[in-house]
Amino acid sequence: MRFDAGWFSSARRCESPHFNRRPFGEISLLVIHNISLPAGCFGLPYIDQLFQGCLDTEADESFADLAGLQVSAHFLIRRDGECVQYVSCEDRAWHAGVSRYSERENCNDFSIGIELEGTDTEPYTAAQYQQLTELTRALLAQYPALTAQRIVGHCDIAPMRKTDPGPSFDWERYLTALG
Ligand SMILES: [Zn+2]
Repeated sequence: MRFDAGWFSSARRCESPHFNRRPFGEISLLVIHNISLPAGCFGLPYIDQLFQGCLDTEADESFADLAGLQVSAHFLIRRDGECVQYVSCEDRAWHAGVSRYSERENCNDFSIGIELEGTDTEPYTAAQYQQLTELTRALLAQYPALTAQRIVGHCDIAPMRKTDPGPSFDWERYLTALG
């Protein structure tokens, strides 16, 4: 079994307090993001800290803007391919913000959010594509309302605010690998 109560067996579990119940219990959209903290720096502990609500905002001057921010995602895939999970897929993580998909607002209600450690301009690693493909396949098998046609970027559901996962993300490579 790949999931236990919404937790992926291959992920390192790092629980976030930033979640609540899905209002309709529906899981029918996958949202791909990117994140790096500080911007453009990889392999540091700050993403875990941000999602866990314990970011040391003194650690970098750019973190002042993040003080008190309550955000999370279900998953993070690091540059080396490590998969970290912060929120059970059965619960609502706080990754999409103000958003709309196909005339429906509040995509957090019905989506799963996957963060790729990266930026809009730096190519993602082969290990990330491999882990993302494995995770996506497992999610599609587990949640029947999720389909390969219902995978979007954050930029697609919040186009005026967000650009991630950016031009650096090779959608064709990803979707082809999904098969
Ligand atoms: Zn995003």
